[in-house]
Amino acid sequence: MLNKLILVINCGSSSLKFSIINILEKKILLFGLAENFNKKYSCITWNFNNIKKKKIFYSKIDHKIILNFIINVLLKENLLYNNIIAVGHRIVHGGEKFINSVVITKKVLKAIKNASIFAPLHNPIQLIGIQEIIKILPHLEGKQVAVFDTAFHQTIPEKAYLYALPIKFYKKYKIRRYGAHGTSYRYVIKIASKILNVSLNTLNCISCHLGNGSSITAIKNGKSVDTSMGLTPLEGLVMGTRCGDIDPAIIFYMFNILNLKINEIYKILTEKSGMLGLTNITSDFRYIENNYFKDLKIKKATDVFIHRLSKYIASYSILMEKKIDAIIFTGGIGENSVLIREKTIEKLKILNIFVDKKLNNEIKFGKTGFINTINSIPILVIPTNEELMIAQDTFNIITNK
Ligand code: AMP
Repeated sequence: MLNKLILVINCGSSSLKFSIINILEKKILLFGLAENFNKKYSCITWNFNNIKKKKIFYSKIDHKIILNFIINVLLKENLLYNNIIAVGHRIVHGGEKFINSVVITKKVLKAIKNASIFAPLHNPIQLIGIQEIIKILPHLEGKQVAVFDTAFHQTIPEKAYLYALPIKFYKKYKIRRYGAHGTSYRYVIKIASKILNVSLNTLNCISCHLGNGSSITAIKNGKSVDTSMGLTPLEGLVMGTRCGDIDPAIIFYMFNILNLKINEIYKILTEKSGMLGLTNITSDFRYIENNYFKDLKIKKATDVFIHRLSKYIASYSILMEKKIDAIIFTGGIGENSVLIREKTIEKLKILNIFVDKKLNNEIKFGKTGFINTINSIPILVIPTNEELMIAQDTFNIITNK
């Protein structure tokens, strides 16, 4: 059945992910990725009916060109165009304004623009995406929805979102913890609540979204009560190329003593740190997993990742107060890295969390399931599906569900 399709758009700083979702069947019909914008050559790859296709652009492209290609070429060629009923946009930062997904209006556009100071690489590009879609698909006015990465974390209490800075930095400038990956957390807890047969509004879990960007969230009674990412997605866990938690004084040392420029320091912390920085080789956990026992550099770097992750899980366990229904692993690493899951869980015995090595080895590559021993708190691996969550929100909002 093709008559209810949602287009989901995720504009990154130099890339664009898209999917077409049949909302009634909860099925992704077409998905793709365009990358390397503003470089000499760029390419777009897409998958329709399990057939992979690719087009190379031999001139510089941008988000507008790609959106036009997706809608006027791909959707028309594949006879999907007339069935698009709405568009859902992933928006990285909603500031304090958005606690839910919303229909995009002029006011919403302004608020997304205002939140750009906290996500300068993403929000402005995502605004361009929305405005271009308004131009290409004017008949879908009022049917475009913004879904914010930060919205899920707006339930975090003040004691967890305030930094211990002079209070005016929060009151006047709204500097606080906002978190990220909210759409992924909402998706996985919905699945977890079904698997565990615990209603969403009583579900207590600690959810680890481990991918190129990694974060962890304490979820009590179905609501986020603390999360590791902060004002921006730089804080918290060790990531692919981002440093996560560091002593802020390191920045003054780099600036004052090492004479690095502020934009160089930003680049080091965001693009050259994390697993890439520690290994000096790669941020790819497939390589890391294959070489953990062979290369001491890789082992040492991975041990830093595991140490930080297990420390966060342990500290978030005290926020659950009564019971932990599950520890959840998701994201490219959480879904697939048997090694990271095993080594992290092995550090949590004191919390009554034990891994079953056989199950852990089996649950990967898109499988959902438990990886704990019988006497342990449940540990679930759940492949995330942010696109489906965005499409569901979009459909629910435009049909007033
Ligand atoms: P994401 O950002 O969620 O797409 O996750 C990307 C990360 O997942 C990268 O570090 C990948 O190396 C890692 N990843 C993907 N597949 C595997 C796998 N089979 N084993 C280990 N890590 C993986």
